[in-house]
Amino acid sequence: MAYSVMLDAGHGGVNPGAVYEGRQEKDDNLALVLAIGPILENNGIEVLYTRTTDVYQTPFQKAQLANEAAVDFFISIHRNSFPEDNVVSGVESLVYDLSGVKYEMAKNINAQLETVGFVDLGVKARPNLIVLRRTRMPAVLVEVGFLNSDTDNQLFDANFDAIARAIADGIIETIDVLPDTLETRYSVQVGAFRNENYARNLQEELMEMDFPVRIERGDGFYRVRVGDFRTIDEASRMEQRLKRAGYQTVIVT
Ligand SMILES: [Zn+2]
Repeated sequence: MAYSVMLDAGHGGVNPGAVYEGRQEKDDNLALVLAIGPILENNGIEVLYTRTTDVYQTPFQKAQLANEAAVDFFISIHRNSFPEDNVVSGVESLVYDLSGVKYEMAKNINAQLETVGFVDLGVKARPNLIVLRRTRMPAVLVEVGFLNSDTDNQLFDANFDAIARAIADGIIETIDVLPDTLETRYSVQVGAFRNENYARNLQEELMEMDFPVRIERGDGFYRVRVGDFRTIDEASRMEQRLKRAGYQTVIVT
């Protein structure tokens, strides 16, 4: 089962984000997102976008798109700005709080960007940002250098492909060490026994009828379970088959 990521190019349309010497943040964000996406797809990750053109979206709309698509991760790409030009440079990632897989992912993305040449300004908690607060999945906002830093812009332009690769690598390496899935899986339990032989007998019986059956051990029980489904509907269909075959069942997660 593939993980899914929604990539968000920050700002858009009438909202340019930061602006510096004719350069608009929204354009850098979109170009980068469109370069990151194919790399993730080539690594087996399902990619969705909040926007692929220069359109305006409120932060609420962006969060809502992610929630409606029920993606596993939300990554918002931005460029930073500082009140004075050419004073600060470096990358910074923002998360709702400094915990969980989003924090790991943010640190990994920053570390990857550091190898491209950016200063790593760290990961910061920003619980009030709408795209971090309203998204229901782990969300990271990456500030890919300062738009009003000539140093960062030169780095951005000269190493564009490597930067896209670095951000993708930060996402991929985080996902690679996760368990098979973050989401709930459903199985149909046909029996739970203290005696392993009873469980084995039931397993064999079900195997003969071609049910995808396995035994899970835990808490002194041998649980005989069928299937491993993403949705409760699929589990229900399997449960009906088992009931028709005369078994007592319960759907478990
Ligand atoms: Zn921005």
